[in-house]
Amino acid sequence: MPDYYSVLGVERGASEADIKRAYRGLARKFHPDVADDKISAERHFKEINEAYEILSDPLKRSHYDRFGSVPNSSGAGGFGPFASPEGFGDIFDMFFGGRAGPTRAAGPQRGADLRYDLQITLEEAYRGAEREISFQHLAGCEICHGSGARPGTSASRCDRCGGSGVARTSRQTPLGAFVTQSTCPKCGGEGEFAAAPCESCRGHGRTEQTRTLTVKIPAGVDEGSRIRIASAGEGGTRGGPAGDLYVYLGVAQHPRFRREGADLFLDIPISFTQAALGGTVSVESLEGQPLDLAIVAGTQTGSAYRLRGRGMPHVRGGSRGDLLVTVHVAVPAKLARRERELLEEYAELRGDKIEDRSFFERVKDAFKAD
Ligand SMILES: [Zn+2]
Ligand SMILES: [Zn+2]
Repeated sequence: MPDYYSVLGVERGASEADIKRAYRGLARKFHPDVADDKISAERHFKEINEAYEILSDPLKRSHYDRFGSVPNSSGAGGFGPFASPEGFGDIFDMFFGGRAGPTRAAGPQRGADLRYDLQITLEEAYRGAEREISFQHLAGCEICHGSGARPGTSASRCDRCGGSGVARTSRQTPLGAFVTQSTCPKCGGEGEFAAAPCESCRGHGRTEQTRTLTVKIPAGVDEGSRIRIASAGEGGTRGGPAGDLYVYLGVAQHPRFRREGADLFLDIPISFTQAALGGTVSVESLEGQPLDLAIVAGTQTGSAYRLRGRGMPHVRGGSRGDLLVTVHVAVPAKLARRERELLEEYAELRGDKIEDRSFFERVKDAFKAD
């Protein structure tokens, strides 16, 4: 629990008037219209109000002074001006624009945008793809065509809010009178009210519907790429346009290829003789067609070959990235007898000292068929 006295910047023995004065000064200072950092202002503002709630109430203040804690809010009518969570929320939201309700006027409303996360393979990102997706969204009710009124009847202007969709209540606070605006509870902000609501959408004009569509994924997309499909989001209300659908792409890890931007990386094994003598090896590619890679005689393990233009395409076209193939010299785990003889002869020519096999192994080999 914070020290409420230092939050308000007053002495422990401060009078009620001092506390009120300190609170007003701080509340104005952290008003979002003057504060540069809204996030930190919001946090301060909450803290200041919490401190004032306690210290402005003689009972709570004496409890806090004695025990350093706050008594339960049960009983005596709550916590003053910011007492109920809802009441506090209303004022708070008015300052920081937290809710859509208060300033919204009845009229056409655009539907919400939707997000769909789609996982694709690296091959699909390489070639481009078409994927069918299915999702739930709120769309115009097919029974009442979005009016919310039962067919044959019509919605009329809401008598509670006069068609504005906004309910106003006035509240007295230490900062003065605040008019709190909220969504009209009768029409739900629609401004219109159907006496005989449509049974399909219960008067909302929209119902949850499943939509299926094909997403065209261009070649070259990467993790986090976003595809916007206009008007495929939620349907608007009162004739407003639909929102958009955003498809966020995730690209699955490939078991062999690694991607960095437009470049692809691949590790392949080559034999000791290919490394020493040179030769051509076949390299798999994301295109599906194997590529020929010429290994230069004397290639060291860990060397990388760059195959220009064999990497990922760019979404906006133009040149492709490269494919970088790192070769690793693989040492045979087992040798046939003849292979061993040749290698021993090679070692002798090089003057390499090699492990001499035991007498028993020689005997064993002598009985083995070639
Ligand atoms: Zn309907
Ligand atoms: Zn209303």
